[in-house]
Amino acid sequence: MNKNDCIFCRIARKEIPAKIVFEDDKILAFEDIKPQAPEHILLVPKYHIEKISDLTESNIHMIGDLVLAANKIARDRGVEDSGYRIVLNCNKGAGQEVFHLHLHLLGGRKFSWPPG
Ligand code: AMP
Ligand code: ZN
Repeated sequence: MNKNDCIFCRIARKEIPAKIVFEDDKILAFEDIKPQAPEHILLVPKYHIEKISDLTESNIHMIGDLVLAANKIARDRGVEDSGYRIVLNCNKGAGQEVFHLHLHLLGGRKFSWPPG
């Protein structure tokens, strides 16, 4: 998948609509189209990278940027105190369906541990 066809690159370029909840120069955050919790936000870097195993020392800082943005969104949307979960799926076996790195922010309900 290249960045021309990639669905999250297309959302980041505003070619496909999404319910955007946060944006800065590096990150876009939008509501998941098939939410798994009352609050289910996806956070993506604005440049195309397929998965977390492709990260290197030169771009690993991007994970920190995504987590800081997720923390801010969790606060703004009122799920900081009740608890939230951050999920990064890497490859199909772990449930990755869209091959543009994304962080799931899930909140607003109880979560079981260990995950299924
Ligand atoms: P993953 O299974 O980790 O690759 O997560 C992909 C997520 O993207 C799923 O939760 C989908 O519901 C979500 N998704 C797919 N297409 C869209 C879209 N056009 N807008 C918002 N969320 C989407
Ligand atoms: Zn992409």
